[in-house]
Amino acid sequence: MNGLTLMNLTFFQWWLSCYTILISLYFSLSWFISNDIKTTRLAKIQKDKELKLELVKRDIKQSVKSLLLISFFVGSAIWLNQEGFTVVSAWEPSILSFVLWLLVSMFLYDTWFYWVHRIIHTKRFYRRIHLWHHRSKSPVVWSNNSDTLLDGVLTQSYWVFAALVLPMPTALVILVHKIYDQVTGMLGHAGYEYGGMLTLPPSPFAAVTFHDQHHEHFTCNYATQFLFWDKLMGTLHPDYNDVTARNLKSPQQSTQDKIENT
Ligand SMILES: [Zn+2]
Ligand SMILES: [Zn+2]
Repeated sequence: MNGLTLMNLTFFQWWLSCYTILISLYFSLSWFISNDIKTTRLAKIQKDKELKLELVKRDIKQSVKSLLLISFFVGSAIWLNQEGFTVVSAWEPSILSFVLWLLVSMFLYDTWFYWVHRIIHTKRFYRRIHLWHHRSKSPVVWSNNSDTLLDGVLTQSYWVFAALVLPMPTALVILVHKIYDQVTGMLGHAGYEYGGMLTLPPSPFAAVTFHDQHHEHFTCNYATQFLFWDKLMGTLHPDYNDVTARNLKSPQQSTQDKIENT
């Protein structure tokens, strides 16, 4: 199955390739969304709040560094899979096995993220590790990868863990999953409800409102892509369903609010 197999590169080539892909995605999607929100009819989630320019600049500078660390983990994972350095034998590559392990990896990553995120929100770790990311209380798309080094190590080491323990048929699973995570993570910080009807409650997919509420209220909505863990552990914001439905269904009204507030 050549279409599902990535080319063989050295570890450093994979690190550099992943950095090129992720940094290109970061700047192009951020640029697109930053322009799109000037004229969009989508709902602004924290209606009268804007992130200060100095914090936007801080987030961009930090993201350029953090993406190098993230690429290190993703590049390592791809290289480990390709070299066969895993504790289980890889499945035969096929469309079915590709889709299956992509879905498993998506659920596992959300589980990893939820619990790591809850731990770094405890008193013991919050100031030292995670406060940096929360300084952007009304996030913008540029805020997605603005994390401390330790924060990045804890959340992003998932990729190496997954490569070692999952019998992924091809390293393409890791690359596709990471690109999906990068895009949804950036949309999750956009400040405007880009989720679309696919995220309308009771959808299991997190809308943009989900992570935006996490930045606004701190102690809720800890997962990244799905609502499963927050619902199970009782940490979903009590107004999440209503606010998301309102943001998705009546963006014109929200836009009108915005115009009236300016
Ligand atoms: Zn947090
Ligand atoms: Zn965030």
